[in-house]
Amino acid sequence: TSPIHVVGGGLAGSEAAWQIAEAGVPVVLHEMRPERRTDAHQTDGLAELVCSNSFRSDDAEQNAVGLLHQEMRALGSLIMRAADGAQVPAGGALAVDREAFSAAVTAALEAHPLVTIARGEIAGLPPAEWDSVIVATGPLTSPALAEAVRGLTGEGELAFFDAIAPIVHSDSIDMSVAWRQSRYDKVGPGGTGADYVNCPMTREQYEAFVAGLVAGDKVSFKDWEASTPYFDGCLPVEIMAERGPETLRHGPMKPMGLTNAHNPTVKPYAVVQLRQDNALGTLYNMVGFQTKLRHAEQVRLFRTIPGLENAEFARLGGLHRNTYLNSPKLLDGALRLKAEPRLRFAGQITGCEGYVESAAVGLLAGRFAAGERLGRAFEHPPATTALGALLGHITGGHIGVEGEGPKSYQPMNVNFGLFPPVEGALRLADGSRPRGAQKAVAKKRMLTDRARADLAAWLGEA
Ligand code: FAD
Repeated sequence: TSPIHVVGGGLAGSEAAWQIAEAGVPVVLHEMRPERRTDAHQTDGLAELVCSNSFRSDDAEQNAVGLLHQEMRALGSLIMRAADGAQVPAGGALAVDREAFSAAVTAALEAHPLVTIARGEIAGLPPAEWDSVIVATGPLTSPALAEAVRGLTGEGELAFFDAIAPIVHSDSIDMSVAWRQSRYDKVGPGGTGADYVNCPMTREQYEAFVAGLVAGDKVSFKDWEASTPYFDGCLPVEIMAERGPETLRHGPMKPMGLTNAHNPTVKPYAVVQLRQDNALGTLYNMVGFQTKLRHAEQVRLFRTIPGLENAEFARLGGLHRNTYLNSPKLLDGALRLKAEPRLRFAGQITGCEGYVESAAVGLLAGRFAAGERLGRAFEHPPATTALGALLGHITGGHIGVEGEGPKSYQPMNVNFGLFPPVEGALRLADGSRPRGAQKAVAKKRMLTDRARADLAAWLGEA
């Protein structure tokens, strides 16, 4: 058998190469370090963790990333095996000794008889004779390869920055304060005229909010981020606020064309709009609220918005250097580029976010590629599992908003908002009905119980 080529020896590429080799297919893993470096990596090791040493919560019952850990372990993940072996104490989180972790991944791949590690940059499209390639070059994909990919996908379908507005779990919005309405009741494609959730503000509330944005504690750009030529000028909300007290009221917070359904005679002074973010309708993003405010500051300030007092955030806003595809449009269900199916994508370049998610998408891409080589289709994991929910986010569960190009597809960590909602009444482990705060606990437990059962059934069949 001719080998599968994996480009990028990070979290995703290392996992993909491992899965391919374990399936009995030869694989060449191409990593440009040390020949060529990125602005964030410091070492020559495979699967280097560029920042935090945490794989986040290991709680598989109440946390979606903990559930993802468990599913990856069940599928023989090298990244999880190395992480478990390099664990350092971190409460309920899985944190690792980063050097021991990277060394374990590197050693396992070097020792595998079916893995060849080739050091060197793939500085353009992979050679035409490579008939099966996984591109896993991450958020800091080298410019030569990024440009070549952009040539295949078209201008605007490969982003170089993520400008992320916070995303809220829709069931945490207080709809006795907020209301549904599209501006001027406009009915767009597939819309109803009530596609947005609107949160009204009085003049006093607006002025206090703008002052809070201006005074808020922000994360500064790293030098190499500030100087990146790709930054397309997507303004953070606090920068708009700094331009003058009225700027936001004439921008994303304008009240025009909106009537407060709870109080139709009083015109709101400003309005925060949220737009549906996934096909399930479980997540809504805050329109125009990309921000460099620190996370704790975002939670504090955004909960002062009427209707969002108890908002639970699926992710907070940010603005970073990040290379990623408009995957729901460009990739098929097995992570192949529709325009050139010999190329598969994995890791953060597909629009997942985080070490664990990147490795998980590498795991899936590796299994898809190996299955294809061996003539055995690799069945998709059920949408109710963490792996399936993440794959759904990338390959189509997401709503693209017409005319907005890739900005409507934003990188995301795995979270319960990506899972299909549980059917039927909520129950606690002892079978009783939950009350108050117990409801969220019961809901998560039902989601993870269902995921475990569905994964087990799928593994039995697969
Ligand atoms: P990477 O792990 O970056 O791997 C990509 C690999 O491809 C690299 O080794 C690179 O050298 C190589 N490569 C690139 N181009 C080429 C080419 N043309 N030819 C050959 N090789 C190439 N996530 C978290 O969960 N926690 C954090 O704290 C965190 N902090 C981050 C901080 C920064 C500054 C950045 C940029 C990202 C951070 N992330 C964090 C996100 C993190 O990068 C991803 O979660 C994860 O590393 C992505 O995995 P990946 O395999 O897709 O890419």
